[in-house]
Amino acid sequence: MKLEHLTLHNYRNYADVDTDFSPQINVLIGENAQGKTNLLEAVYVLALARSHRTNNDRELIRFGEDFARVNGRIGRSSGPMQLELVISTQGKRARVNQIEQPKLSQYLGRFNVVLFAPEDLAIVKGSPANRRRFINMEFGQMSPKYLYNLTQYRTMLKQRNAYLKQLKYHQAKDLVYLSVLSDQLAAYGAEIVSARETLLHQMAGFAAVIHSGITKGQEKLTFEYRTQVPSSARGDVKTAYKALQDLYSEHQSREIDQGTSLVGAHRDDVAFIVNGKDVANFGSQGQQRTTALAVKLAEIDLMKAQTGEYPVLLLDDVLSELDDTRQTHLLKAIQNKVQTFLTTTSLDGIAQEIIETPAVYHVQNGV
Ligand code: ATP
Ligand code: MG
Repeated sequence: MKLEHLTLHNYRNYADVDTDFSPQINVLIGENAQGKTNLLEAVYVLALARSHRTNNDRELIRFGEDFARVNGRIGRSSGPMQLELVISTQGKRARVNQIEQPKLSQYLGRFNVVLFAPEDLAIVKGSPANRRRFINMEFGQMSPKYLYNLTQYRTMLKQRNAYLKQLKYHQAKDLVYLSVLSDQLAAYGAEIVSARETLLHQMAGFAAVIHSGITKGQEKLTFEYRTQVPSSARGDVKTAYKALQDLYSEHQSREIDQGTSLVGAHRDDVAFIVNGKDVANFGSQGQQRTTALAVKLAEIDLMKAQTGEYPVLLLDDVLSELDDTRQTHLLKAIQNKVQTFLTTTSLDGIAQEIIETPAVYHVQNGV
């Protein structure tokens, strides 16, 4: 997939942008606070209909204006596609080839991007919540079914937690109703757990190869999916469902005591293991960075495997932080097949191959 053409109107500090891009590497160069990240963010928003930096869509609208528009022509093997997103104070409207999409879920998943920013180190070093968010964003992008189950799961979880609170404070006492809620939560949870099991396994395979390349075969990266569902029950939705039902019965009184759901997919985590040790706790800074890079690059392969198309890669301020070996591996991973946008304040420390080939865009004060 390639972003061939982009137009922006009143997006962050851009009044109007109308530009073509190279199908290979695009370098956005400029001083601080000029709009480099804003442009990458616009591409991300075009794909996911939400920002990676904020949950408040209004921040995306240029100061003093009442709507922002992002429009892109996407080149795919099946032909071009026009995507448009209008963000106003009233909400979002999405169009595909000029046709309004009544539901955002019909818009999502058509254009895939992988973003890598310095904050992504949190995937390795941060809390389980960071990793769950990462997993959900990525798997949701490649699978509409995953996204659907996740949305339903969250709704059920809220309902169940509210009911557990009522039980805790003796405002309710119907345990049959609780078990109905538990079954529904287990049903969506089982779909999520088995999808995570499959996709994490596939992603781990890609990540291990990339990681071994970067570390010249010195280190071995594996993933460990941490979920309360026992490993023997994860691979299949039916067995995962049964396991979750059992867990809910087993933990019922504790859950009522605490007034919240203690079991389920919302407690999952994944550990990245390097040479047998959890890199979050025992890895050096460099090992953590290498792991984050390998995991991110593995996403590219996973998306290709799942959707048949390579995603577009967005690199915000990460290149100059990587040493030559890691830059070379990055280049190898993208080589002519993955359209890449990268931001930087200077070309110092950037591999010669990147400087030589690309289209260079100078970004200054929203122009
Ligand atoms: P750095 O190199 O420091 O990362 P950058 O070029 O990536 O800089 P951006 O984050 O893209 O910078 O842009 C920041 C600028 O955009 C700031 O000056 C900020 O005030 C401006 N900005 C952010 N949101 C809006 C908005 N809604 N309307 C107008 N300007 C905005
Ligand atoms: Mg920036």
